[in-house]
Amino acid sequence: MPEKITHCPLCQHEKSNLFDRRKFRGQTVENRLCANCGLVFQSPRMTAAELEAFYTHEYRQVYQGDEGPTPKDLFVQNGRADSLLAFLAAQKITPRRYLDIGASSGILVQRFAEHFDCAAEGIEPGEAYRAYAQKNGLTMYADLQDVNEKGFDLISMAHVLEHIPDPVAYLASLRGEVLTPLGVILIEVPNLYAHDSFEIAHMTSFSAHTLREVLKQAGYEVIALKKHGQPRSKLLWLYLTVLARPTPLPAGEGQGVRAERSISLKRRIGMLWRRVLAKLLPQQTWIPVK
Ligand SMILES: [Zn+2]
Repeated sequence: MPEKITHCPLCQHEKSNLFDRRKFRGQTVENRLCANCGLVFQSPRMTAAELEAFYTHEYRQVYQGDEGPTPKDLFVQNGRADSLLAFLAAQKITPRRYLDIGASSGILVQRFAEHFDCAAEGIEPGEAYRAYAQKNGLTMYADLQDVNEKGFDLISMAHVLEHIPDPVAYLASLRGEVLTPLGVILIEVPNLYAHDSFEIAHMTSFSAHTLREVLKQAGYEVIALKKHGQPRSKLLWLYLTVLARPTPLPAGEGQGVRAERSISLKRRIGMLWRRVLAKLLPQQTWIPVK
């Protein structure tokens, strides 16, 4: 049975309003807007147990009609690796121990290990994808608990945070033992104002503002944030890529959540802009996927 979310996952406020309702692959997906801080989150939604079963087998089948990596998926992941490596290079990040959470077919693990000549491991709950990465010689685990030696100075979560039921608690839990105090975390999520991303597996839909606030509440400070479309679009800012580091303060201490305003209007403008660009400049708006 789906679970109703009674408190905002960011600010814990009790009141929210319906933001979007649609059918996704035959299932109704409802997203709500927090009346206090402006976070957009899915409710009702799958319970923790349902989510676990979903990611072990069903996720890739629901999305791709196939449990293992497809050529399109590998093409996008390679393009994403290029984009993330360029972002890290601009910030002069050179990790020694790297962990990719939600590693999928392991392309980031492989590309980062080669690029930085560093130790690299991945976590992927999907069995078919994990097996694919392991067959390519990569160190992969099903769960963070299975990782023997923690203490990574770079952790990435590319298109993962939006899937996590409690993003603040999850990010806070990585500080210290998993991510070293001087380490950095690299996150990429769909952008609420450009990506039409109300999917069954997306628990939260972030704007740049709410992503920053989630990181702040989890005890991180943002070093850099980029809005861009790579590798899918030259014109639409489909994605938010952020680099952040842990602050010395415990998570959630010191600062309240800064509210975002006019979310519905910004979303409507973003979706309209997307349709206009797709009509006027289709080739640049959507880069063909091979
Ligand atoms: Zn809220």
